[in-house]
Amino acid sequence: MKYAVMGTATVGRAIAGRLDGLGHEVTMGTRDPGATRSRATPDAYGNPPWSAWSAAHPGVALATFAEAAGAAEVLVNATSGTASVAVFSELPASTVEGKTVIDIANPLDFSRGMPPTLDPVDTDSLGEQLQRAMPAARVVKTLNTMSAHLMVAPTTLAGDHTVFVSGDDAAAKGAVTALLVEFGWSAASIVDVGDITTARGTEMLLPLWLRLWGAFGNADFNFHIQR
Ligand code: NAP
Repeated sequence: MKYAVMGTATVGRAIAGRLDGLGHEVTMGTRDPGATRSRATPDAYGNPPWSAWSAAHPGVALATFAEAAGAAEVLVNATSGTASVAVFSELPASTVEGKTVIDIANPLDFSRGMPPTLDPVDTDSLGEQLQRAMPAARVVKTLNTMSAHLMVAPTTLAGDHTVFVSGDDAAAKGAVTALLVEFGWSAASIVDVGDITTARGTEMLLPLWLRLWGAFGNADFNFHIQR
């Protein structure tokens, strides 16, 4: 399968690296490929410069957001939540039409410091905003409620834990569920919450996730739904 992973930071690299390892064709999207390639210092999260990551993942291509989307069958949103709607709204319609868009982003607003707030919240979600911005695409919200390393290697955390799936299109959710199984999630750990409006609920787990992160001092944890 041909994937466009939109975003070059922690999540984009985790997803792109895993997809590449599974044998998929991966192009990562970024604002300015030349600028991304020439960054010489670690990013704000301590990730090594792109050149170092790219050298370890020679099979992963880098392109503009539009070029990456145009070449792909499935798109992954791993951009900053405050930028996601603009990034996807600016794509030519032909690059997203009929395609599944896996939305991992959270609409965290850091403008008033830590902890960040959510915008939108309660009556809307980033997942819904993206679906409205791309009515001909099939947005599936998933993986946004855990740290990037667990998204693609869930068995590194002992015990049962949960990944949520939200979206309007049953076939797209089925394809994303199959990808989650490829990543290592068991069928029992994948919870279909419902249509894309249910992304409000999973995005609104972030205030709790962030406080748990503070309490535990690390990101080696996840939510688990017991029924
Ligand atoms: P991030 O810093 O939130 O996002 C980085 C990406 O956003 C970069 O590719 C950057 O583009 C793009 N970007 C930033 N500002 C932009 C702007 N104004 N216009 C266009 N693009 C812009 O990195 P992240 O930590 O990997 O998170 C990605 C998403 O996943 C976020 O929405 C986050 O909330 C969510 N998430 C993160 C984690 C985690 O463990 N980090 C876990 C769950 C969910 P360039 O490539 O051009 O720099």
